[in-house]
Amino acid sequence: MSTPDIESDATELLRTMIRNACVNDGTPASGQEVRNADALEAYFAGTGLAFERHTSSPGRTSLITRIEGADPKAPTLLLMGHTDVVPVNASGWERDPFAGDLVDGIVWGRGATDMLHITATMAVAVRRLAREGWKPRGTLIYLGVADEEAGGTHGASFLTERHLDKVKADYVITESGGVPIPAASGVKLPVTVAEKGVNWRRLVVRGTPGHGSMPFRTDNALVTAAEVVRRVATYNPKARIPDEWREYVTELELPAGLTAALTDPARVLDTAQTLEPLGLARMAHACTHTTFAPNVVTGGSKINVIADRVAIDVDVRALPGVSPLEVDAMLKEALGDLASRVDIEAPRGQEGSRTSLDTPLADALRRVTSVLVPGSRIIPRLTTGATDARYFRWKGIPSYGFALHSRRIPYTEYPLMFHGHNERIDTESLRLSATMWEALCRDFLG
Ligand SMILES: [Zn+2]
Repeated sequence: MSTPDIESDATELLRTMIRNACVNDGTPASGQEVRNADALEAYFAGTGLAFERHTSSPGRTSLITRIEGADPKAPTLLLMGHTDVVPVNASGWERDPFAGDLVDGIVWGRGATDMLHITATMAVAVRRLAREGWKPRGTLIYLGVADEEAGGTHGASFLTERHLDKVKADYVITESGGVPIPAASGVKLPVTVAEKGVNWRRLVVRGTPGHGSMPFRTDNALVTAAEVVRRVATYNPKARIPDEWREYVTELELPAGLTAALTDPARVLDTAQTLEPLGLARMAHACTHTTFAPNVVTGGSKINVIADRVAIDVDVRALPGVSPLEVDAMLKEALGDLASRVDIEAPRGQEGSRTSLDTPLADALRRVTSVLVPGSRIIPRLTTGATDARYFRWKGIPSYGFALHSRRIPYTEYPLMFHGHNERIDTESLRLSATMWEALCRDFLG
């Protein structure tokens, strides 16, 4: 029951999950999250907890366990952590990304921050509660979910569409947040309450083939595509200031003039052009604009053939409240007179999602964090990435991204580690998170 047990418990479970290397490259046979489902089930052994496994295709297993509450009117809380990780480029790492090295109180490895540390620390709290025979009023569900990193087809999407009764809750907590931001009045702990909508578009440009030795007055799809790429990359729709961004920036306690500029739709883009640090500038832009990143171009057939087809894949991230139809209208505006030369294919068009921070669960989070991190304050955060939380928010279930981190690894480091090299977490953060989950369950469900 002592504090060091929580820390070493969480550390060892995290290292095991890292070593299981459930690398999800987006192909159906990758991930093989069954390894981490097995590890979690082994970790829970002897607690008396019962398990359910849901497998959408071979190896893509999610694990559910629950502690049933005594009062049907009390809330149900779902703690959800994904068990897969993204691929690595090992040559960029200082350590083996799948060894789970523990060096000087730091665990290294793919998934250490995205998000096996949360998946592991949630499990630590659940096991501690189960072992002591905790009998809550409300119900606690733990879900180790597959396939977050490729959009949840074999995980959260599958479960919410096909087995909603198994994961239905009044509240959900998953990644990410809780990396402390120092400010004059005290530490701020961001809770992710909203995310942008993933809208991937393929722009197909057509031309007329001909002999590469006579390019004069030809209709070369690649030349048209170059201008399409330029227009899309330089396009910025009118800025909007989401409430979550306004509140977040205000809580950073920046100089008053800067706060005003970053929350003014007429000035935010200009301000971001020269803002330092660059990470904040990118965030300011992405949190106030629907963004367009042309990231993949394929086309042309042979060096001596005038290109007749080029496809440009654009990663569009829509602000919450911006519909896929509005995204297409923005693309049309970006393309201008070239719009008629481009066919838009839409492999994916999703709305963003948002949750209020004005809920009983958020109140419980406030109580618990103010004890664990004296003087701290939770603040809302809009994330530019996508998480499994969206599947629950779309169903009207308030869903947050949170964990609790120490200040050992500065908050400015975290954005670099997500899907990047040298992902790592300090063991004090593991202790803080596991302690926080346990306290939160007791406070909110007890
Ligand atoms: Zn993640």
